[in-house]
Amino acid sequence: MTLLCVPIMVEDVHAALADAEQARLAGADIVEFRIDALFQGEGDTEGEAGALRLCAESPLPCIITCRDASEGGEYSGDDAAKIALYERLGTSDKPPAYLDLELALWKRSANLRQKVLLAVTHSGQVREDVTTRLIISAHDFNGRPNDLLRIVADLREVEAAAVHKIAYRARSLRDNLELFDLLSERDRPTIALCMGEFGLMSRVLAPKFGGFLTFASLRDESATAPGQPTIHDLLHLYRFRAIGKDTKVYGVIGWPVSHSMSPLVHNAGFEAIGWDGVYLPLPVVADSNDPAASDSSFRASFLALVENERVHFHGASVTIPFKESLARLAFEIGMVPNDPAYIVNATGAANTFRDDLHKHVRPPDLDDGVVINSDVEGIESPLLERLDHFTGKQIFILGAGGAARAAAWACASRGSTVLVRNRTSSTAHRLVEDLTPLLAKDGGRVSVADDADVERLKPDAVINCTPIGMAGGPAEGDSPIDVSTLPDDCVVFDTVYNPLETPLLKSARARGLRTIDGVEMFVTQAAAQFELWTSQPAPVELFERIVRERLAD
Ligand code: NAP
Repeated sequence: MTLLCVPIMVEDVHAALADAEQARLAGADIVEFRIDALFQGEGDTEGEAGALRLCAESPLPCIITCRDASEGGEYSGDDAAKIALYERLGTSDKPPAYLDLELALWKRSANLRQKVLLAVTHSGQVREDVTTRLIISAHDFNGRPNDLLRIVADLREVEAAAVHKIAYRARSLRDNLELFDLLSERDRPTIALCMGEFGLMSRVLAPKFGGFLTFASLRDESATAPGQPTIHDLLHLYRFRAIGKDTKVYGVIGWPVSHSMSPLVHNAGFEAIGWDGVYLPLPVVADSNDPAASDSSFRASFLALVENERVHFHGASVTIPFKESLARLAFEIGMVPNDPAYIVNATGAANTFRDDLHKHVRPPDLDDGVVINSDVEGIESPLLERLDHFTGKQIFILGAGGAARAAAWACASRGSTVLVRNRTSSTAHRLVEDLTPLLAKDGGRVSVADDADVERLKPDAVINCTPIGMAGGPAEGDSPIDVSTLPDDCVVFDTVYNPLETPLLKSARARGLRTIDGVEMFVTQAAAQFELWTSQPAPVELFERIVRERLAD
């Protein structure tokens, strides 16, 4: 079982013990007392007494760590004083479960090594009452160390170490994969974690690869390393205790993804149906000034995940700005049919991937995956509920980006007459040129509208596919259209979901018009993803409740 450890930066012993009790109540197995701010080095009897008290009164087994400034800690005293303290702790009546020592310090001095050996249990230890075990650790806060394999070899040479620890800052998702390999090839209990926002997957997936422990902070602001999740998120959002070696991995790939609501809904959905899966935010850096570079980084990360033999990557949501990248890649490698009217080809975007290989079979064959654009379903289903059918309906779409393409295809491919109005008219014309040849001759149509068309046409539905009205967006507080001229039975659909009631929806409701909000779209498209991955009905009401509660916060 992988332990869940809450690290506590100790400045005040009483407060640290209270935090340890909170950690126990929250579900931690062990705490790490980081005493590097408490203990100042030689002659600090108060710091020493504090450390002894932490070990004696901790409500959970504890690791004592006096992290050196050279490895991201605050201790700048000398090595001998630190080792003397470790010796005192390890041979005390109430010793810590573990002492953590840097590999670099271990290598520096044979004399200090001898002293460390007095404080911990190992094959040459003569004292039977010494029970503390040694964690030998190496950290790199800048990135994957160039000499990673050398470091691993050096760790393995420390016979007395009960546990190895290696932690470095991930520069991309791919850095996690190498750590999973190290864990899988471990020769003793090993902690292998990536720091930073790209490293979350290594922390959450530690149980899948048999990691000795993972760290989680007690509160958002109490993390001792960048990218550390809170214990609440680890246990309740990512269902850490339910993760095992066969757990399927899913996630949302995008930039940024840290505020995505998809992990909330999909993890809750997996729990509701008893699905052995975990869903993670999977950030891939994008540069809006360099789409080609963004496309390359998406491909590199996506393929590394899909091709990895150990991760069991079963599916992904793909969001801004990579939906077009996934569609292109999927088409190139044969994951979508060679049919221009297939949903992904027609809309030029894909937001969902399912790996049909289930990755226990090697070698991987990428055309055994499926991609869809569930945004189309997210627009089509709620509209169909209100309009009954699409044939012969007039639909007015505001915007000509990805959501507008999904909306135009959803309606026109089922027989509606679609008018598109966009700030940049050339983009609207391109949308029309792309979709028109794909539509059945006797079916729907799509064309570019001007402002006068709204009044003239009396649409059955208006769909806002621009960010106008979105909290924090370019036109927060604005409505993209005046609803006063719309027919009484017109349906007003705003794809924007934050705020829950946009200015457009507010004015439409005030006029008594039927409305569809962005949450309904989000939940419907998420349900389509969930059903693609699990082949089971999605718990839609649960999804909806989670999203509305989160947005109402
Ligand atoms: P996109 O591809 O970037 O397209 C944005 C569209 O909005 C473009 O047509 C753009 O016009 C237009 N636009 C941007 N700022 C504008 C402004 N200040 N005034 C007028 N028009 C403006 O984005 P997208 O992926 O289509 O997303 C559009 C909206 O749909 C987002 O706000 C998002 O909230 C919503 N959405 C919701 C869901 C959901 O599940 N509920 C899913 C996807 C998207 P130009 O061509 O002139 O730049």
